[in-house]
Amino acid sequence: MTWFDAPEWDDAVEALRGASSVSLACHINPDGDALGSLLAASLGLKQLGKSVYPSWGATSVEVPYSFSFLPGADLLVRAADVPAEAAFLALDCGAGHRLGSLEERARAAPCLINVDHHPGNDNFGTLNIVVTTVSSTAEIVTRLLQDLGVTIDKEIATCLYVGIVTDTGRFQYANSTPDTLRLAADLLSFGVDAPQIAQEVYESSPFGFLKLTGRVLDRAVLHERERFVYSWISRKDLKETGVAPDETDALIDLVRSTRAADVAAMFKEQSDGSWRVSMRSKGRSVGALARSRGGGGHELAAGFTAPDRETTAAGLVAELAAAGDGS
Ligand code: AMP
Ligand code: MN
Ligand code: MN
Repeated sequence: MTWFDAPEWDDAVEALRGASSVSLACHINPDGDALGSLLAASLGLKQLGKSVYPSWGATSVEVPYSFSFLPGADLLVRAADVPAEAAFLALDCGAGHRLGSLEERARAAPCLINVDHHPGNDNFGTLNIVVTTVSSTAEIVTRLLQDLGVTIDKEIATCLYVGIVTDTGRFQYANSTPDTLRLAADLLSFGVDAPQIAQEVYESSPFGFLKLTGRVLDRAVLHERERFVYSWISRKDLKETGVAPDETDALIDLVRSTRAADVAAMFKEQSDGSWRVSMRSKGRSVGALARSRGGGGHELAAGFTAPDRETTAAGLVAELAAAGDGS
């Protein structure tokens, strides 16, 4: 059966069914959807008797603290140990480069299945299951596992639910459709502990996160006319507050919460001195802004990397001003 109008669905199911070992990777700096999809797919394929090698293309595959409760994390292997000769399943990667150091190996695999929901996905797979109408890659993985005959259990359902909850911003964004909510409800019926997950994901920050939040909110800059708000997190902030870089994702949601702005950005200084920029919008598109700067994402949530904070912020202000309200 073909789901979601993905023409290569049956071929992808066949390829996975026929594979005795599967390498799996999500995007670098993984979020809840990337990790949930990766671990759910790994647990499901393992249940079918396949050898699985889940990872992502970074030097360390340490799961961020707020996702460390996810079942299946014990299956993770180092990127260097991901075999190239196995079928390769890429999850939640809007472009090949999101595989990081695993991109080359993925492209060399006999079969590269690209399962994703980002608009503008560059179809880097040999088989591409790109469905932009769903909330999360986890939604697609759910259907994929069902078609493969995997018995969804509490562990798999937990991973899938986390993918959906996080990518819908706890079911509050426009991508949370009736189908999404029905699927989430089905997953709960497998015994998923939703309140426990909410605590693990959203209420497990270190104390220093409160101090970091104070800094970030205090220095937020508002461009009233452009209805644009932004702030930043430096490496010094992280060092002084004791917060890990992967524990800062929630801050953009606080900055965007002012009614004075429609577009929000968070600049995060990287170890090489460059800045990862997260953008969020309440309506006008930020996908193009990110894509034209070498990044990507969705229309209302996108990101890119830039060498310099101040020049980049000024460039964004100018572009938002030029685009006016109609973009
Ligand atoms: P983030 O702000 O990191 O949560 O990312 C928001 C969205 O943009 C997610 O869908 C990411 O996958 C995507 N994204 C973030 N950074 C990049 C990048 N450098 N290149 C492509 N997509 C990105
Ligand atoms: Mn993601
Ligand atoms: Mn996603």
